[in-house]
Amino acid sequence: MPSAQRREAPRGQAIAERAARVIPGGVNSSTRYIGEPYAFTGADGAYVTDADGRRYLDYHAAFGAILLGHNAPVVNDAVRAALGGLDLVGIGVTEPEVELAERIVDIIPSAESMIATMSGSEATAQAIRLARAATGRELIVKFQGGFHGWHDAVARNVISAPDKAYGRDPLSEGILAQAIDATLIAEFNDLGSVAELFDRHPERVAAVILEPIPHNVGALLPTQEFVEGLRALTRERGAVLIFDEVITGFRHALGGYQQVVGVTPDLTTFGKGMANGFPIGGVAGRRELMERFNGRTGDVLLAGTFNGNPVGCAAALATIGHLQANPDFYTRTHALGARMRDGLAAIAAELGIEATVAGFGGVFALYFAKAPVLGYRDLMRNNDAAYVAFHRGMTERGFLMLPMALKRNHVSGAHTEQEIDATLEAAREVLAGLRP
Ligand code: PLP
Repeated sequence: MPSAQRREAPRGQAIAERAARVIPGGVNSSTRYIGEPYAFTGADGAYVTDADGRRYLDYHAAFGAILLGHNAPVVNDAVRAALGGLDLVGIGVTEPEVELAERIVDIIPSAESMIATMSGSEATAQAIRLARAATGRELIVKFQGGFHGWHDAVARNVISAPDKAYGRDPLSEGILAQAIDATLIAEFNDLGSVAELFDRHPERVAAVILEPIPHNVGALLPTQEFVEGLRALTRERGAVLIFDEVITGFRHALGGYQQVVGVTPDLTTFGKGMANGFPIGGVAGRRELMERFNGRTGDVLLAGTFNGNPVGCAAALATIGHLQANPDFYTRTHALGARMRDGLAAIAAELGIEATVAGFGGVFALYFAKAPVLGYRDLMRNNDAAYVAFHRGMTERGFLMLPMALKRNHVSGAHTEQEIDATLEAAREVLAGLRP
């Protein structure tokens, strides 16, 4: 269980001050700054420990990169075994890379072949370039609220201020205007909004990219008709359908969310939980498309010094191997996720708090907005300040969750029923304090 929380954090503060002097903003990824706790020194199973020795029950899970639990022995042992053997040669291929691709082809419905990258952003960048090359078209459709990495083709319109939603909302300065304008924005669960973009730009849309459940704004569950409609529409209009399964892949089902909905995209991107915290990403898909990456006969550049690196491959093989050998991982995490969602919904109802609990499998999101929450438009009614207060209250009690309103939280393979119940008890206290 989490440790009792003290207010002072001398060691954490000292590390924060050192960090601020040499790292812009003191963190290595813009969304990592959350105030307190700031610096961490340990991680084990469902827990992380901060620099001042406080233990937190972790639902943040490194934005979803931790799937089995922190420092899962099955993964760490495989990585240790890989060290000291073949490190990086950078020419030819190694057996673990082949084995990983074979495994992906075996278990992911859309995968006929696979390339390995180092991160999810590299995977989506490669998939988009491939789609553009294959169609000879330039435009990409993404959804308001979807996040697919930091690169120029997709870095826009995730969580937008109300006046920027669906409009021009780049995540960063320094992106070419042409890159921003080549990515069109549609509304999730609204097939008409996608069809309209195809109509407005005939034969110019190369790809539609989506998180099959947009977890970067919590958990908007897709309707079956929407996903099937996207499949039919992209096929009819000659565009590539890309499922970005960087979060949903391996977490919700061994075959990804595509296995759950029974809809097969042309390309799928992976990352995060696939290697339980070790760096890796990948693109898989239809052979005829993927062959364009073939350095001898294709026309799409695939490059990366660390692609298919032995540590990432060993970690991914061990993670996927564990999931294959233990299908009860899914029954367990899904049951724990449901226990959390049901518990939170019951507490909110009992306290008369306007909230909607969403999620799938081990993922849960707490919206401070009335149901139904189906698309981004519904999220614009969310009371963000209430979530920030909820997050603060939970952190003070030793429960680590994503600090931004509209994000999701993760139950890993290391969480237990008792811990879910302890979380609900703390949530009851915090939510009671938020009553109007
Ligand atoms: N795709 C999705 C759905 C993501 O959530 C993320 C990261 O949050 C990415 C892609 C980018 O992955 P990475 O951070 O490994 O570059």
